[in-house]
Amino acid sequence: MNASRLRPLIAGNWKMNGSRAQTEALIADLRGRAASQPDLADLLVCPPAAYLMQAAKLLDGSAIALGAQDCHTRQSGAHTGDLSAAMLVDCGCRYAILGHSERRADHGETNELVAAKAKAAHEAGLIAIVCVGETEAERDRGATLDVISAQLEGSVPADADAAGLVIAYEPVWAIGTGRTPTPEDVAAVHTHIRSLLKAWFKDGAEMRILYGGSVKASNAATLMHVAEVNGALVGGASLKGEEFWAIALAAAGG
Ligand code: PEP
Repeated sequence: MNASRLRPLIAGNWKMNGSRAQTEALIADLRGRAASQPDLADLLVCPPAAYLMQAAKLLDGSAIALGAQDCHTRQSGAHTGDLSAAMLVDCGCRYAILGHSERRADHGETNELVAAKAKAAHEAGLIAIVCVGETEAERDRGATLDVISAQLEGSVPADADAAGLVIAYEPVWAIGTGRTPTPEDVAAVHTHIRSLLKAWFKDGAEMRILYGGSVKASNAATLMHVAEVNGALVGGASLKGEEFWAIALAAAGG
C-alpha cells in the first residue's frame, strides 16, 4: 500500500501521435469522464506541440491540465524550430515533460541540458516533469540506483521545489515494451529517489515521483500502490480514454 499522502498525478504523454480529429475526440472523451467522476487525481495531457493551442481551447474550463513534451533553455531568440517555456505558458500549458529518454536518445539531451530546461521552465512558471531511468544494460549490471542518482543530481536544478518539480522514473527498457519492473524493484528505486529528494530539498517529501513504462489498465492497481509512487507518466495507454481513465481510477483507489 502506498503510504504517501501526496495527491496522485496521472500524466499522458501522447508523444508524436494524433491529429486534430484525434485530439478533439480524446479530449472530449476525457472531459466527459472527468465530469462524471471529478476529483480523482490531478490529470494532465501532453499532446504534440502542433496541437497545444487546439487542446488548450478544448480543455478550457476543465480540471485537466495541459503540458508540453519539451521546452528550450531560453525564453525567446534565434532558435529555429524550438519553443520556449514562456510560449508554452502563453498557450495554456502548466507542465513540461523534460529529459524524456526518447529526447535523451534522439536529441542527445544531457543532464546539464535537462537541468537548464527545468530552470527555464521554473522561471516561466511551468512545472517541470524531469524524467530519469536506466537502460536494460545498466540494470543488468546492477547499476540502476547509481544511474538514477547521477541523472537526478545532474538534471534537477538546485533551487527546485515541490510546487515546480515532479520526477518521473521511467526505466528505458520498460517504455513501450509491455514489460515492467516488479513492484519490489519499483519500490526500491522510488524509495531511493525519495531519500535523495529529502536530503537535497526542504520539501523533498512533498515532491511527486511518477512511475512510467508500460503502465496500462491491467497493471495500474499494482504499480500505483507501490511505496513512494505518486502517479504515472503514461505513453501508449494515454491515447485511449478508457485506459487512461482506468489508470486514474486505480491511482485514486489507494
Ligand atoms: C513514456 O514514454 O513516457 C511511456 C511511459 O510510454 P509507455 O507508457 O508507452 O511505455
